Amino acid sequence: MRVIETAKGVEDAVTQYRQDGKTIGFVPTMGALHEGHLYLTDCAREENDVVVVSIFVNPIQFNDKKDLEKYPRDLERDIKLLHEHDVAVVFAPTVKEMYPEESDRKYEFGELETVMEGKFRPGHFNGVATVVHRLFDIVKPQKSYFGEKDFQQLAIIKQLVKNENIDVDVVGCRIIREADGLAMSSRNQRLSSSERKSSTLLYRLLQEAQSLKKNKTVEEVKQYISENIKQSDFELDYFEIVDSITLQPVDEWDSSTSIRGCIAAYLGNVRLIDNIAL
Ligand code: AMP
Repeated sequence: MRVIETAKGVEDAVTQYRQDGKTIGFVPTMGALHEGHLYLTDCAREENDVVVVSIFVNPIQFNDKKDLEKYPRDLERDIKLLHEHDVAVVFAPTVKEMYPEESDRKYEFGELETVMEGKFRPGHFNGVATVVHRLFDIVKPQKSYFGEKDFQQLAIIKQLVKNENIDVDVVGCRIIREADGLAMSSRNQRLSSSERKSSTLLYRLLQEAQSLKKNKTVEEVKQYISENIKQSDFELDYFEIVDSITLQPVDEWDSSTSIRGCIAAYLGNVRLIDNIAL
């Protein structure tokens, strides 16, 4: 496995793979890896000849400076894990290497970005699109793997690829959870032990939403969830019941064939997100 810090170094490596007729699967990450990330690399490994993983804490997608400062980092451990998962290249650039010049490009995603994360984290998806577009340019993968954990991000990346005519197959992978249901996230490391205990409520409520769907209206389920959050240690940003493709809120269960419940809430100063098929 090679750990490369420069874009030129990665470009040379992938050019060689391509000349050798090898297909490239790519997994972009911000490091502090957990089993959710490793599941993506395993999916990529199954469907491609070589796997490239990027580790880059992308400053321009953080709308909260404190969140960026506190974001966990452990490159040495990450490299060891990726080595064990048969990854060929780790791209670990500096900020200067990723952004030699300041980018003021504005990407447009229409109504996909006006709801949920887009609404609560201004500028976030522009930062995500900027970094993923640049990474796709460097790695030029045939397939790239993203977690459904960041459900809206997955939709945004699919739209980015369409808008920019990028020749890459975007693959969405299921959410990997802890034994008690909490969706794995690098930010979970920042939960205190009592917060970690409370954190399981998020997924429990999503599961409840799933069973309440049978005999309650969309509005009643939304109310039930927000009332339960209010009585908990969490502070709710949003709970939305949306069409899985357009991400627009639905008000009837039968107004869409595929519906997702998406939640974002703070536990102390850690912001957690999760979602479930409804
Ligand atoms: P991040 O390092 O948080 O930017 O995440 C990198 C990729 O891993 C994104 O595509 C995430 O959606 C995905 N990911 C993060 N957590 C999970 C999880 N628990 N299960 C599956 N994929 C995940």
